[in-house]
Amino acid sequence: MSTTSYWLAEPTESLPRNALPGPPDVAVVGGGITGCSCALALAEAGLRVRLFEAREIAGGASGRNGGFALRGGSAPYPVLVDSIGRERTRELWRWTERALAELAELAGDAFRPTGSFRLAADEEERDELEAEFRALRADGFEADWHDELPVPLGDYPAALFHPPDGVLQPAAVVRRLARKAAEAGVEIREHTTVTSPADTGAETLVVATDGYPSGLLGQLEGLIVPTRGQVIATEPAPELYFEVPHYGRHGFDYWHQRQDGRVVAGGFRDVSLQDEFTADERTTPVVQAALEGFVNAFFGRELRVEYRWAGIFGMVFDFLPVVGEVPDQEGVWTAGGYSGHGNVLGFACGKLVARAILGDRDPLLDLFEPARLLG
Ligand SMILES: Cc1cc2nc3c(=O)[nH]c(=O)nc-3n(C[C@H](O)[C@H](O)[C@H](O)COP(=O)(O)OP(=O)(O)OC[C@H]3O[C@@H](n4cnc5c(N)ncnc54)[C@H](O)[C@@H]3O)c2cc1C
Repeated sequence: MSTTSYWLAEPTESLPRNALPGPPDVAVVGGGITGCSCALALAEAGLRVRLFEAREIAGGASGRNGGFALRGGSAPYPVLVDSIGRERTRELWRWTERALAELAELAGDAFRPTGSFRLAADEEERDELEAEFRALRADGFEADWHDELPVPLGDYPAALFHPPDGVLQPAAVVRRLARKAAEAGVEIREHTTVTSPADTGAETLVVATDGYPSGLLGQLEGLIVPTRGQVIATEPAPELYFEVPHYGRHGFDYWHQRQDGRVVAGGFRDVSLQDEFTADERTTPVVQAALEGFVNAFFGRELRVEYRWAGIFGMVFDFLPVVGEVPDQEGVWTAGGYSGHGNVLGFACGKLVARAILGDRDPLLDLFEPARLLG
């Protein structure tokens, strides 16, 4: 049984190595989806970029997540409408749909266009999802409603289907992005921890560390709350019930099967909610047992668990990303805080912060302003 993530266990080729002479124009800290996307965008615009990663490319949440590639954000559509208004919610969702399509193209065979199911676990959640379905349709988004679900999902009262979504091999996608970035001239320094902006020699720094405490965010440090997610991957099962990714109980449970039948299941943070607000990247027996019991119940027998792992994501009080200049830290920018929804948002926000550094500030940044975390 491995404690490496199933995604990171897949063999990979080494990346092209560049060595920039002297200090870079921009240093990027974090070799996940955000940092790689940002570095690539900056290098394509002609800047000299050095990317620092404490471990290896995709070694953080980007190589440890559930693999869901979803449009939208962490908050349901109607919740976002209540907080930022209908027009801006519609724009934000459209922007994530475009990013998802672009990410899918870049990912090639590391992306499967499956759609995704959001399951209602009880009547209350059914009503919430139905309201979301109606709101999406009213605003011109594709969405389907299912009142009857096949075995083994018969106990769920209903489900909302999101057609544009899909499933990724997330580590493979980030490695692909990193390769493109290296080919565009980015120097990638793995196994290098940055402890202060001055370490990098750059006047402009992008901190792309999402939930991992980097120590580089000044007053913002800790306000993108480190939150642990745990995952299992089982032996392949002959029954293929979940080729489409499924989300249940307001996103607390999420699971799907690889094409060989292997189940990848994550969640159940709520069995020990307070303990999971931590940056300690270790699995715990209580959450792991909940995940196993959940998966075994669908299959009516015990599936052998071949991989168990944990990762850290950044939770934000209003469920909106945090992208822009860090208050009182001249030349320091950040992008992160996707509240567990960072595969597509990270890709998109990495580019957004790169564009802002290049002088092309997207109006979306008004919503993502880091200073709001300071109250
Ligand atoms: C268990 C789990 C399941 C998830 N499931 C999904 C999902 O299915 N779909 C989805 O969209 N999102 C999911 N997420 C969220 C998503 O994985 C993250 O939001 C996203 O990967 C963040 O990417 P990132 O590049 O911003 O950060 P990360 O991928 O976390 O990368 C940050 C990197 O910064 C490095 N670092 C930190 N400090 C320093 C330093 N001082 N110097 C150098 N390097 C440093 C870390 O080593 C790390 O590799 C999940 C997260 C977890 C943990």
